[in-house]
Amino acid sequence: MPEKQTGGISVNTENIFPVIKKWLYSEKDIFLREIVSNATDAITKLRRLQSLGEAESTDAPFRIDVILNKEAKTLTVEDNGIGMTEEELKRYICSIALSGAVDFIQKYEGSGDDAKSGIIGHFGLGFYSSFMVSDTVEIHTRSHTGAPAVHWVCSAEGEYELEESDREAVGTEVIMHISEDEADYLNAAKIREMLQKYCAFMPVEIYFDDGEEKKEDEAEAPVNDTAPLWQKPASECTDEEYKSFYQKVFSDFREPLFQIHINADYPLNFKGILYFPRITNQYESIEGQVKLYYNQVFVADNIKEVIPEYLLMLKGVLDCPELPLNVSRSYLQTNSYVSRVSAHIVKKVADKLVSMCKNEREQYEKVWGDIKTFVEFAAMRDQKFYDRTKDCLLLPLTDGTHVTVGEYLEKAKEKHENTVYYTTDTSLQAQYVAMYEAEGIAVVKFDSLLDTQFAGAMESHLDGVKFLRVDADLAGALKSEAAAEADTALHDLFKRVSSNEKLEVRSESFKDSEVPAILTVSEESRRMEDMMRMYRLSGGEDKNFSFPLDTKLILNATSPLIGRIKELLVDDAARAEALAGYIYRLALLSHRSFSAEEMQAFLKESYRILSDLSK
Ligand code: ADP
Repeated sequence: MPEKQTGGISVNTENIFPVIKKWLYSEKDIFLREIVSNATDAITKLRRLQSLGEAESTDAPFRIDVILNKEAKTLTVEDNGIGMTEEELKRYICSIALSGAVDFIQKYEGSGDDAKSGIIGHFGLGFYSSFMVSDTVEIHTRSHTGAPAVHWVCSAEGEYELEESDREAVGTEVIMHISEDEADYLNAAKIREMLQKYCAFMPVEIYFDDGEEKKEDEAEAPVNDTAPLWQKPASECTDEEYKSFYQKVFSDFREPLFQIHINADYPLNFKGILYFPRITNQYESIEGQVKLYYNQVFVADNIKEVIPEYLLMLKGVLDCPELPLNVSRSYLQTNSYVSRVSAHIVKKVADKLVSMCKNEREQYEKVWGDIKTFVEFAAMRDQKFYDRTKDCLLLPLTDGTHVTVGEYLEKAKEKHENTVYYTTDTSLQAQYVAMYEAEGIAVVKFDSLLDTQFAGAMESHLDGVKFLRVDADLAGALKSEAAAEADTALHDLFKRVSSNEKLEVRSESFKDSEVPAILTVSEESRRMEDMMRMYRLSGGEDKNFSFPLDTKLILNATSPLIGRIKELLVDDAARAEALAGYIYRLALLSHRSFSAEEMQAFLKESYRILSDLSK
């Protein structure tokens, strides 16, 4: 064995080509993004060189043409940017992982800061993605008018030929001979869709020639928008522009509620627009879509590392040219930059809510119904988000107005300090709500399970504050000063008519003498039952088990009806029982839906009363 040896790993193209084809990219469609990105870079470079006086200026506008030729089975991408000399072609195309983009940035922009230059390329691999769909790839390229044009042809095995080309124009033409197995890429609709997805906002005009005859008066229009709205300063964007941008990008005919235009300067350096979409009904999926771009090139949707999961209900676009993308430009590496971007987005969203609540309260209340699911979810998921937005979390009241939690508690101070009363069903719980309203107590209207869960979360944040459903107990403010005596005979009668010997019966003096009795269920036992129900709904075991509810019947000592039953208990027990039974069922009716048997018994009794009345 000779002395210690050193060397560099050599890569054999024959072996590496199949690896790139198979493993590098998870999605074949991205080849078009890579080839068009290279064309864009070539134009960006030429622009830059022209502005530095290092290249002749050209008259023709910069453009990229994507040309489909079904007969020849080719897809061509042509640009009029800086082409390649023979040497450059050998360096950048014939050797894997050498990037002219990186060399260019280092030479002209210093420090390798590609974000500012707008150059997309990075790794020197994207070009080879064309072999995922092609048998053969050809390049015709001319660097500048003085340099000879070169023609390069390469098979999918990596064998190439290089010769002079007859191309006259400066620029590059990449001709992909689509393989038999990938004939889908000769379909115009498919190519158009791919251009829409990946290239919709690339900074150079892209024209698609699908090979069909053009009508005479048909104007040529680029498939992309080279100056997407997120690039414009927010102060110069109109509502109309935000709206139509949203409708176009998300193919959603509805108008968004409002948007947040983010323009983060150094060191984060990213831009974007996030929209709060309108949710038309509760059952609609509230899944949003946040499209991530890298220098106006689409990377992916809904990247959790950049946008926290709970913000994914929003719709929007983010352009982060500093993202640490990996080779396939699909997966992000989570690093401190990514988490700072994410934190910045969260802060901007919270700031927007706070400013709307403060400065546009009327509008904020109007959209609250649409955004509350999102805000509640976010506030429950992220303590920081809660801390930022806690003063602008609204509670909708049964009278149609909205108050913040702070406003509610401030008003509650005198009558029911630290207690928030809510209803989950304004019709079913109408009796209770009416009693609270009569006493000037505001009742919050919750309409989803999330609302109730959110109330629980608020309790853990707000020391000493309790959320109680209107039927959880008879609130102190609803009781009158008069003492209510316990009457065992009366209570036993009600237990009997309820057919529930265990029912707890109590007497209280209500301010409202019209209501003879109400049923209450303690907040804790009801929440427990709700949780059990959710558990069962989500497939949990034991379908028949139901949590024992802590139900109480509270008789109203100020009610003349209850007073009358007491008298009848002595004189006419049967009538007392009939009255008590009916009152119990009425209390039950105000409390929950009847079972079939209960409904029948109730109707039977009602008919009997009616026939007595008609006598
Ligand atoms: P990257 O774009 O990440 O650098 P690629 O493999 O896609 O890697 O391309 C390698 C190099 O080939 C580019 O950096 C560029 O120098 C050169 N190149 C590719 N396509 C073109 C083109 N259309 N015009 C000019 N140069 C190109």
